[in-house]
Amino acid sequence: MTGKTFTVVGGGPVGTLLAISLARHGYRVGIYEGRPDSRHTNIYQGRSINIALSDRGWTSLEKLDISDAARQQAIPMYHRAVHGVDGGLSSLPYGKEGDAIWSVSRGGINEQLLDIADGEANITTHFEHRLIDIDFETAKTTFKVRNDSELAVDSDYVFAADGAYSKVRRLAHSLPRFSYSQTYMPQSYIELNIPANADGSHKLEKNALHIWPRKDFMLIALPNTDGTFTCTLFLNHSGDPSFESLQERPDVEAFFGSNFPDAMDLLERPVDVFLEKIASPLFLVQVFPWSFNRKVALIGDAAHAIVPFYGQGMNCGFEDCAELDRLIDIHNHDWDRIFPAYENARKPNGDAIAELSKRNFVEMSDLSGDSKFQLRKMIEAKFSQRFPDLWTPLYSMVTFSPDVPYSEALRVGDEQNKVMEKIMAIPGIENDWDEQHVMDRLYELATETFGGRQ
Ligand SMILES: Cc1cc2nc3c(=O)[nH]c(=O)nc-3n(C[C@H](O)[C@H](O)[C@H](O)COP(=O)(O)OP(=O)(O)OC[C@H]3O[C@@H](n4cnc5c(N)ncnc54)[C@H](O)[C@@H]3O)c2cc1C
Repeated sequence: MTGKTFTVVGGGPVGTLLAISLARHGYRVGIYEGRPDSRHTNIYQGRSINIALSDRGWTSLEKLDISDAARQQAIPMYHRAVHGVDGGLSSLPYGKEGDAIWSVSRGGINEQLLDIADGEANITTHFEHRLIDIDFETAKTTFKVRNDSELAVDSDYVFAADGAYSKVRRLAHSLPRFSYSQTYMPQSYIELNIPANADGSHKLEKNALHIWPRKDFMLIALPNTDGTFTCTLFLNHSGDPSFESLQERPDVEAFFGSNFPDAMDLLERPVDVFLEKIASPLFLVQVFPWSFNRKVALIGDAAHAIVPFYGQGMNCGFEDCAELDRLIDIHNHDWDRIFPAYENARKPNGDAIAELSKRNFVEMSDLSGDSKFQLRKMIEAKFSQRFPDLWTPLYSMVTFSPDVPYSEALRVGDEQNKVMEKIMAIPGIENDWDEQHVMDRLYELATETFGGRQ
């Protein structure tokens, strides 16, 4: 035991993983979560969003040897199944053979981590404790308990893992030199559902992320272990078509019927759900600093709320925890050094994945349905297979290469873009893409840009 104590605000996936890591380093940790315990109260009303967990997330879990429970409930998705307006289906692999992103329930993985936390002697969990105040000098926190009494908690350090709407971050606005920006995306989203077949099987191919890319909007579907799919419709908040413009039933029916004809028989009451639900906004938050007075720090969505188009929000939060885990050892528990090292290491990566995620909306909603985009992916995949040291496609760097920081993936990806623009401008590339001269030119440009290796 180190004798030091931590308060973790927020028992979401990132706060809980962090608590496990801190406890295993010998600290006493209190997790304070505003909501009731979902394992005993049905706060998700039977549903939770599902998200894609990929190599960065898995690596972070594996470092603590706690990935098994999540693996058992996760479904590998090896490719994007792209649904055209005409009902045609095409396939775009995510990476090389065997590479997959994994569909997991956010609530499910949170509960698995809470179960593990409960088994740690150094962790206490407190539900229905909502942080209402914090002293950034002393790390004293105040919680509203079950909407009733108030509780003051003293600890040596505080981590705020209280999500995209972080209260701790909002309270930090009063601190000197605190920079903050929040940017709304044009799109909002609602969730829809595809039920299972009567025998419990999936109505669509199970091991794929299904996507209906329609340029300014898109529908995606991720598989669940019970045979259902959780679908998300991303659509502009205003303009035409948008959540604002589609108010009348006949317009919504026409919108679904003409854009997602093959999904109409699969989705559960899509028109009713569309008309009943209030669409959630999408925004990203960038702040600096992430730590205050060597006492309090932000982590996960509280530090870097990003948009979900790269499927990296939780992966990035898990990676924050893995980095801290590493820094505790490197700096031998000296938190005066760990806090600055943590924010200096993670802030550029948080910014990079925010930028990459924003850009990926265009890629998902527009280009995956675009034949030139598909051609470019095929050329890159072929080249990368031949020269793996010289070229890892951007998607693979972000998703399957936990050793490559997001900031490095962004930098290299921008260089690759310039190279691929030149390749795609080769006259007749649509027909010649498989010819040797295309590979030769790409090799020439890639070695010029990256030297011997990427
Ligand atoms: C539509 C959508 C799709 C997504 N898809 C993906 C994906 O495919 N892959 C991926 O990696 N990520 C994805 N994400 C992002 C992912 O959900 C988040 O990055 C992740 O949940 C962040 O975890 P967290 O623990 O930091 O925050 P949260 O999950 O938000 O948890 C924060 C916790 O803090 C609690 N809390 C809040 N305020 C207080 C308070 N005042 N006091 C005490 N407790 C408090 C909350 O109740 C909550 O339990 C997606 C997000 C959305 C919206």
